[in-house]
Amino acid sequence: MKYDVAVIGGGTAGYAASIALARRGKSVALIERNRIGGVCVNYGCVPAIFLYDVSFLYSRSVEIANYKGLYNEIELDNFFQKRDEIIEYLSSAGRKLIENAGGEIIEGEAELASRNAVKVGSTVVEADKVVLATGTSPKRPNVEGVENAISEDEATRLNYVPASMVVIGGGVGAVELAQIYARLGSSVTLVSRSKVLKFLTDNARRILLESLDFDGVKVVEEASVKRINCCSVQTDKGTFEGDVIVYAVGRVSNIPKGSDHVGIKYDENGILVNDKLETNVPGVYAIGDVINRQAKLAHLAYLDAMVLAVNLTGGNERVDYTGVPMVIYTDPMVAVAGDRQKVKRYVSFPFNANTRAIIKGLREGFVTLGLDDSGKIVYAEVVGDGAEELIGIASLAIRKGIQVRELAFTALPHPSLSEALVNAARAYFDLDVDSLK
Ligand SMILES: Cc1cc2nc3c(=O)[nH]c(=O)nc-3n(C[C@H](O)[C@H](O)[C@H](O)COP(=O)(O)OP(=O)(O)OC[C@H]3O[C@@H](n4cnc5c(N)ncnc54)[C@H](O)[C@@H]3O)c2cc1C
Repeated sequence: MKYDVAVIGGGTAGYAASIALARRGKSVALIERNRIGGVCVNYGCVPAIFLYDVSFLYSRSVEIANYKGLYNEIELDNFFQKRDEIIEYLSSAGRKLIENAGGEIIEGEAELASRNAVKVGSTVVEADKVVLATGTSPKRPNVEGVENAISEDEATRLNYVPASMVVIGGGVGAVELAQIYARLGSSVTLVSRSKVLKFLTDNARRILLESLDFDGVKVVEEASVKRINCCSVQTDKGTFEGDVIVYAVGRVSNIPKGSDHVGIKYDENGILVNDKLETNVPGVYAIGDVINRQAKLAHLAYLDAMVLAVNLTGGNERVDYTGVPMVIYTDPMVAVAGDRQKVKRYVSFPFNANTRAIIKGLREGFVTLGLDDSGKIVYAEVVGDGAEELIGIASLAIRKGIQVRELAFTALPHPSLSEALVNAARAYFDLDVDSLK
């Protein structure tokens, strides 16, 4: 079997690259050992955000029912079934898109045989170019009794709400899972080695911690886990009971077998690539979470796939991750973009002074912009409803290196939440007229 391109891994990166390459006329073999869609569709973004939506609506409807004196009962089994249907739909839609584009899917574990050949069982797939898109697996904490715990990937696929849960971790995945299951009725303890979400500004962190507290999540920060038992976690700050113990402490890159033999360079964070996603071995590329990039995000995997597909069909693009946004799917939602290290001054605007937010009845939220010495927007943080969409505008502003002036003198729709962005910029010039001084 001989192809122009062999792609190993059918997650976001491999799936997107395969479709784009096949549509651009390349013969493509995509090798996947598990399910098309990878982590995002099967264990990550899709089930997690689905459960987020459910838990959000559930808690809102309970709130409204209480307020109106109504009795509200929700059949949770239906939600889990619906989650699985969406995953199934997206995974098989991905498969169809690849095949419709003319790509071929080969099922099995791929091993690099050489820079131009991949072994899948007894089959050898030859290709002019090989793309490594093998993603990551959950990192297992090195602690006694870890076999008593499940990973974050498994936690998004539970088919019931445990009465109690301990989540180990202080990053995005851990906090999201803690709040989701607490809202669905579990009694949740979140145990973190450091401060949770320590990369956020104090303001955003405070709002999020208050919200977790409101949802009944017990947050134990700066605790060292000593041992995981079947139904409890022993730490230096006490022992915490949970019917289910979840670890969400990071990811490890899936370096395909044969990489050492072929001489691919990688470190503990993943495969080393340049800004054209070329590995050190000519003709072998790496894209998505498997590369040694700190941020492991599906939209970066998509971006890598597009840049690579263009370059392998005559283009000359380079990846630029400036201003890439990240969303924390909590309530309130938090979205950040840019680099806090570069910030010399912050300007903010609260949602409680934004007309659209007031009409919607939003109680909390804000937009903060971080500016460098020259007044360039280098960081943005949005807390509250619509954060996942608003951050996109800020992200573009950071990527294009625009000055706060340019955003301040832009008219965005009235009334809309996006006006909070221009009003944060206007605060720099003391023109944020709607906010109380
Ligand atoms: C709980 C959770 C929530 C998340 N939420 C978000 C979110 O809201 N937004 C966001 O942007 N990102 C989110 N992510 C991250 C997102 O899932 C990843 O960034 C994305 O899946 C990366 O895609 P990928 O293709 O690089 O890797 P993966 O999705 O890991 O896909 C790699 C694929 O390669 C296959 N594979 C590996 N080795 C081999 C081999 N040797 N042979 C054949 N096949 C192989 C694997 O089976 C897998 O299907 C979340 C992750 C988790 C765990």
